[in-house]
Amino acid sequence: MRILVVGSGIAGQTLACALAKRGIACDVVEVKPAFDIAGAGLYVQGPALRAFQDIGVVEAIVAAGLPLADDTSLVTDSAGMPMARPSYPRIAGPHIPSVVPIRRRALHEILARAVEAAGVAVRMGVTVDALAQAPDGVTATFSDGRVDRYDLVVGADGIRSRVRALLFPAAQPQYTGYANWRVILPTPAGLERTTWMMGTGTSFGIVPIAPGLVYIAGVSKEPGNPRFERAELPALCRSRFAEFGGFAPALLAQVTAPDQVVYTPIEEVRLAPPWHKGRVVLVGDAAHAGTPFWAMGATMAIEDAVLLATLLARGTPIEAVLPDWMARRLPRCRFVQDGSLQTGRRSHEESPEALAAREHYVRNLMVADVARRYATLAEPFVW
Ligand SMILES: Cc1cc2nc3c(=O)[nH]c(=O)nc-3n(C[C@H](O)[C@H](O)[C@H](O)COP(=O)(O)OP(=O)(O)OC[C@H]3O[C@@H](n4cnc5c(N)ncnc54)[C@H](O)[C@@H]3O)c2cc1C
Repeated sequence: MRILVVGSGIAGQTLACALAKRGIACDVVEVKPAFDIAGAGLYVQGPALRAFQDIGVVEAIVAAGLPLADDTSLVTDSAGMPMARPSYPRIAGPHIPSVVPIRRRALHEILARAVEAAGVAVRMGVTVDALAQAPDGVTATFSDGRVDRYDLVVGADGIRSRVRALLFPAAQPQYTGYANWRVILPTPAGLERTTWMMGTGTSFGIVPIAPGLVYIAGVSKEPGNPRFERAELPALCRSRFAEFGGFAPALLAQVTAPDQVVYTPIEEVRLAPPWHKGRVVLVGDAAHAGTPFWAMGATMAIEDAVLLATLLARGTPIEAVLPDWMARRLPRCRFVQDGSLQTGRRSHEESPEALAAREHYVRNLMVADVARRYATLAEPFVW
């Protein structure tokens, strides 16, 4: 069996390693000529760590990131007064932390090393221009002029997937009305744990990702999806989150340079099933990009990849593997997409009634709700 993986991001790198481990040959192409990893930090959650055990990168991730202190986070009001302290179960095993926030670049480097160690070559600066399907294979025409034939093509090429555009041209990312502002900064003295602050129409997270480093992750509503000049970003970031107290003012005061700020309009991809056509399948954000309010998109991408490699290695014909894989992934990915969006809406309420209902929820119901969510996520993803 020969497989083409399009995209060497979180899903593509995980899939390449998981296939190689099972003795399945794959080629990987990546459109970027060199990696410039945008974004600040990423929550690597328990189910992601469990799936990552398959490719042997968990130790390196725990060493490079900063696990949540006591497996808990703190939720506060906009002044920084504590409201709730949800805890997260150790889904990957008793000795593996519940959640490991990490710099995106560090995660990428760990996965890139794993791909190299697995003996998989990544052709950089290359994409697919065309895919011609036949009953027994797919002929891929690459942007560097090469033509090659594969048993299966996997689109792991992210939210603006070219493979999805070739398969399902009508499916487009939808803007959700929210935007995310991220900056890496020195850890403020006295910060004990990851803190999520609730404002009026905004939220502000402070997440330790390495000794001495945090990333701040603010969310604001940005009607109409405005485009900002890079030079405007620091002042806009400071003003969007000016209502927050606690550690926020001192952190925001350090946001002064345009290159510090990663501004991301939040979009979703809700591709109607099936996420495959013939012998081409979409995984990760290409099929089901979600909002970041549960910080679970990468988790779903990693699980997609490990499950797909596992099913392919069972020797079932590819035509039967793809619907089987899809039936297992769809409910779980939709659970995360729907739940994350609902959390996002609740976290960014503005009317006095909605804010009162949110306060009741956070103070009285949130801890049990988070525990229920993780009980569902702890269910096996491979069976
Ligand atoms: C603000 C924000 C915060 C987030 N925080 C978290 C978090 O804390 N935890 C979490 O689990 N998830 C988080 N996510 C979601 C997470 O980033 C994504 O779900 C995850 O990166 C998806 O992985 P992927 O491999 O599918 O796509 P990507 O990581 O986007 O990788 C796609 C790869 O394909 C390449 N590519 C693109 N087009 C082509 C092409 N035509 N040909 C070849 N290659 C191509 C890209 O260059 C890239 O390398 C967050 C998302 C956002 C927007």
